[in-house]
Amino acid sequence: MTLSDEEIRKIITPLLFSGAKMLDKHCPKCGSPLFELNGRAFCPVCEHREKQRKAELKGIEQILMERLKILANNLPNDIEELEKHLKVMEKIIDILERYKKLEGTK
Ligand SMILES: [Zn+2]
Repeated sequence: MTLSDEEIRKIITPLLFSGAKMLDKHCPKCGSPLFELNGRAFCPVCEHREKQRKAELKGIEQILMERLKILANNLPNDIEELEKHLKVMEKIIDILERYKKLEGTK
């Protein structure tokens, strides 16, 4: 992955002004220069991307949770319908579990 101009402008420029030190090393993942702030070396672009990814996952998770709540509140009386209903719920829960795992990864 390469850096977009926007990423450089939005992430790297403010860092330089915040007193972070640009190191003589580059991130093996995205090629951005690494920075050091308060004794911690990090890649600002990867951190930013990770944050964005987590925010996106959270959004999807919320939509699924909402849907799950609606389904749970509207269980049909008909056994066959109920079975279908529960299958859908099961799938949603399944996906939610997977998202939780994704969020946990660094
Ligand atoms: Zn990086």
